[in-house]
Amino acid sequence: MSNKQLKFQPVIGLEIHVELKTKAKMFCRCSADHFHTPPNTNICPVCLGLPGAMPYPNLKALEKTLLIAHLLHCRINRISRFERKHYFYPDLPKGYQLTQYLYPMGYQGYLEVEGKRFFIRRVHQEEDTAKLKHQRLKSRLVSLVDFNRSGVPLVEMVTEPVFDNSQDVVAFLKKLQRLLRFYEVSSCDMEKGSMRLEANISLRPEGSKELPDYKVELKNINSFRFLAEAIDYEIKRQTQLLSQGKEVTQETRGYNSVKKFTFSQRVKEEAQDYHYLLEPDIPPVYLSDEVVEKVRKTPDYSQLIGKWIKLGWPKTVVNNLLIRQGQLEWWQELETTVQEEGLDRHKLGHFLLKNKGSYYLKDISKLIARFKEDEKIINNVDQLVKVVKEVVANNPKAVADYQKGKESAIYFLLGQVRYRLGKVNVQTTLQQLRDVLTDEKSKK
Ligand code: ADP
Ligand code: MG
Ligand code: ZN
Repeated sequence: MSNKQLKFQPVIGLEIHVELKTKAKMFCRCSADHFHTPPNTNICPVCLGLPGAMPYPNLKALEKTLLIAHLLHCRINRISRFERKHYFYPDLPKGYQLTQYLYPMGYQGYLEVEGKRFFIRRVHQEEDTAKLKHQRLKSRLVSLVDFNRSGVPLVEMVTEPVFDNSQDVVAFLKKLQRLLRFYEVSSCDMEKGSMRLEANISLRPEGSKELPDYKVELKNINSFRFLAEAIDYEIKRQTQLLSQGKEVTQETRGYNSVKKFTFSQRVKEEAQDYHYLLEPDIPPVYLSDEVVEKVRKTPDYSQLIGKWIKLGWPKTVVNNLLIRQGQLEWWQELETTVQEEGLDRHKLGHFLLKNKGSYYLKDISKLIARFKEDEKIINNVDQLVKVVKEVVANNPKAVADYQKGKESAIYFLLGQVRYRLGKVNVQTTLQQLRDVLTDEKSKK
């Protein structure tokens, strides 16, 4: 049967992993910083999975995961226990990954983006695997393993299949990234792999409420733009197959960002059996009222950000510069100065944006001094332009001479500007005169 007359609606759900910004790993006290250390130096029997090693959970990491669950408006499981998720791969020294399977830290949450609510299924704590590096060594292809990443705290967030287009997916992910960076739970750097994205896509006939009985998983895509491209490509590919009455194979696909197509990586015949098993060496961790209360008191992001916009700071300035909670104190100090001195938040904000690297978050009095200097120059230029225009308007004869090719007429005009303003920068003034004269000419 052909489905040509049917229209299809995309069904998309996301799985997002982020590495937590903690000093130590998840189940040992090795440093979690695996970006700035030589391979296999932050390691111990626990994160190497040696027999007999005893894991003990990192409470700071659990607190950060709790914060994520809170930010995503999740219900909270007060008891954290860990399960072993078994599978075999060279990056997994124990032969299993510790994760929260039955009792995720958070469940049934949502994130609101531009007025739309996207539902979150679960947020749970787990640990990262080692890093594999495939390369050529003495003309042989080898795979190297770096265990520095093994056991780094990782959080998985799973959404319900609630998206139906790639723009919403990207808007959601950008908001999520902004939130997690703001509260400093993760650097969310996709190039470095501290934020990893997976999207599941299927299609159903328009109007249908049922979940399709297949899904295609897009994996290993490390930019929002490429994820959007891959999703759009998948929607087209699957639409074509279904329109021809064919089935879409349930599989994992990658994305070729140069040639712009998705390709099959692995066909999952049936659900993998991970043989989940309660970890016997870690007793359940109970989140105390104190910890939960502390996290619940976290100031709300949109209220925090909204405050600055209401005060009159430009939105682009706030969104681009106020990116960490830790910066709020500096901003408060700046706001006090602005109120005391009656400064223009719009102008000052754009000055900050323009000079981002050089003045931002530094000494406020120095910043204000530079800003005022800058304003003076701008005011001087504004005044110069004004006077130049007036001089041009009031001296039609000199202007006509200049337009006819009498170059020296411009010096008469320069003299007029000097007469009005006193000392002026000759080169700048001549340039302004030429600009205005060219404008005048083109008007005719
Ligand atoms: P699995 O058991 O294969 O991991 P889950 O049901 O746990 O699958 O869902 C994993 C992800 O896939 C979730 O983000 C979910 O929203 C999404 N998902 C589930 N079913 C579909 C579907 N038919 N189409 C698109 N996404 C789906
Ligand atoms: Mg998973
Ligand atoms: Zn270790």
